[in-house]
Amino acid sequence: MPALSELCQEIALCQKCEVLAKNRTRVVPGEGPEDADIMFIGEAPGWHEDQQGRPFVGPAGLFLEQLLSSINLKRSQVYIANVIKCRPVGNRDPLPSEIGACRPWLERQIELIHPRMIVTLGRYSMAMFFSGKSISKIHGTAQKRDNVIYYAMYHPAAALHQQSLRQVIQKDMLKIPSLLAQAGSLKEAEQPPQQLSMFED
Ligand code: SF4
Repeated sequence: MPALSELCQEIALCQKCEVLAKNRTRVVPGEGPEDADIMFIGEAPGWHEDQQGRPFVGPAGLFLEQLLSSINLKRSQVYIANVIKCRPVGNRDPLPSEIGACRPWLERQIELIHPRMIVTLGRYSMAMFFSGKSISKIHGTAQKRDNVIYYAMYHPAAALHQQSLRQVIQKDMLKIPSLLAQAGSLKEAEQPPQQLSMFED
């Protein structure tokens, strides 16, 4: 069995967060090809994801698929995961302890997939890779570190709650192909990869 499938099976048995493990219907480890060039990382499973055990399958997922299609990609060509793999009851925000507990799973996924680009969707995902930044300031911007492009975007669900963000998200998505095409000539950031940190709204 491929290493990534084995890892997802391991994640599906995880009980590290007692409350989340007790209340989930299904774990949502992530999905996509092991050799994906781009990895999209969202926040946490919602109701639909929890029911199906798949990431981004509700209304936000539909919008993500439209966004991917705008750059000629299908969801089956990219890897999609979340910062935490189990749905918080009532869709509350993930707790720092839950993000910390789940982080090693995400790190192992990144290690196996070794993507050329990591797109963070929303502030929780952004906070893992862009320390102390505000999403309203850095969305649509990229940093290259250790030959990986880190790119921050708003979460697609933000467009469902705030119509004015829809075009912003669409515009940010359209930058991805040229960033990938220019990957070789992008300068490496001076700072080392950031660790989990606090973020600003
Ligand atoms: S959120 Fe992550 S660490 Fe917590 S129980 Fe689910 S898989 Fe395990």
